[in-house]
Amino acid sequence: MKYFSTNKNTPDVSLAMAVTKGLAADNGLFMPEIIEKMPASFFEALPHLSLQEISYRVADAFFGTDVPAEKLKEIVYDTMSFYIPLVKVSDDIYSLELFHGPTLAFKDVGARFMARLLGYFNQQHKVEGNVNVLVATSGDTGSAVANGFLGVEGIDVYVLYPKGLVSEIQEKQFTTLGQNITALEIDGTFDDCQALVKSAFLDVPLNEKLILTSANSINVARFLPQAFYYFWGVAQLIKAGVTDQLVCAVPSGNFGNITAGLFGKRMGLPIDRFIAANNRNDIFLEYLNTGEYRPRASVATIANAMDVGAPSNFARVLSLYNSQLSAIKADISGTMYTDEQIKNTIRQTYQSTGYLLDPHGAIGYQALLDGLQPGETGFFIETAHPAKFLDTMTDILGFEIEVPAKLQEFMKGERKTMALGADFESFRQFLLEKAV
Ligand SMILES: *Cc1c(COP(=O)(O)O)cnc(C)c1O
Repeated sequence: MKYFSTNKNTPDVSLAMAVTKGLAADNGLFMPEIIEKMPASFFEALPHLSLQEISYRVADAFFGTDVPAEKLKEIVYDTMSFYIPLVKVSDDIYSLELFHGPTLAFKDVGARFMARLLGYFNQQHKVEGNVNVLVATSGDTGSAVANGFLGVEGIDVYVLYPKGLVSEIQEKQFTTLGQNITALEIDGTFDDCQALVKSAFLDVPLNEKLILTSANSINVARFLPQAFYYFWGVAQLIKAGVTDQLVCAVPSGNFGNITAGLFGKRMGLPIDRFIAANNRNDIFLEYLNTGEYRPRASVATIANAMDVGAPSNFARVLSLYNSQLSAIKADISGTMYTDEQIKNTIRQTYQSTGYLLDPHGAIGYQALLDGLQPGETGFFIETAHPAKFLDTMTDILGFEIEVPAKLQEFMKGERKTMALGADFESFRQFLLEKAV
């Protein structure tokens, strides 16, 4: 399959090229040229298939022409080797818990898949030389990418994070791994980290010497696998007897997760509509209301993985709907919740149902509470385990919630990191000396 750029100003590329480049040469995002409709027989079988079987069928629709069936199956089965339960929270509302993977966030799915696919391309010499994955993180992305790529031959990962601005537990998840993972503590903010990574991708001499790619949701290999679990979620709802009038709410930041869901809908998945649930960084909601896309500096909220002022996958949404606002509005609505509202939702939901929402999932749940019409059933994506935000949760609930053993394990490791300034020249020199 060929991949085209959303900016349409550069020739189409192969999957291997799209994955190793990350961003297209004209700065657009890569899109698969075909989004296959799944056959009716697949939807009939859906409630009887396992998570891995469903994921493989969806993966085959995207990657089947580029990766041999046995290999693709191996990659998918290995990626999706943890459970994703659908849990009923209240009348007509279900939580799709995507926090049972190694780093307890949904990003594990895309990061693990991308690591395995890139490892395969490297083995096949579809990529010449070591691939250097650069990732700027405010917490969650770095841990999912570092753990997903740990020990993968031919790939080195550099995690850039702002000094003193990620929680201890988050930092431990990418500074204690060693092997092919290097943590870089940048004397600056998350925006500085992101600027360093962007400058590296644009630096011509650096790119002549090194293969550099990104592992955030602009990368098709991280983005597309996120469609798997929307099919799985619907399969579980069908099993529970819910077959129509489905609504899906997705806590959104860079809009990679929700866009993968929209791809699922395009493939025939019976989800009537989506709600893009935002925190105060509600650029998309503003776009729906005004028809104008106005990126702006992000503001800090307690749902910090969604503090994004210029959602990178917005270009994919536009491409999917040929930039037609009315078509976009027919499939997606938006909402916004403040920190105070998020806190209230977490408290009230815990008191009335016993269910523990994390600050991101809480936005999705509230969006369904407020937005479901009579007759509709909703599910939201629970994007991370609440214990990843321990201080915030303690502050909201007044007691400390239990920390899963998996998360506690990370705390035992020894933190190894390299301090760097926020100037590009230091980072550039570091890469030239360190990377191969
Ligand atoms: C990354 C992240 C989000 C936002 O996902 P996007 O794909 O960027 O929209 C939401 N919640 C959590 C916990 C995350 O880590």
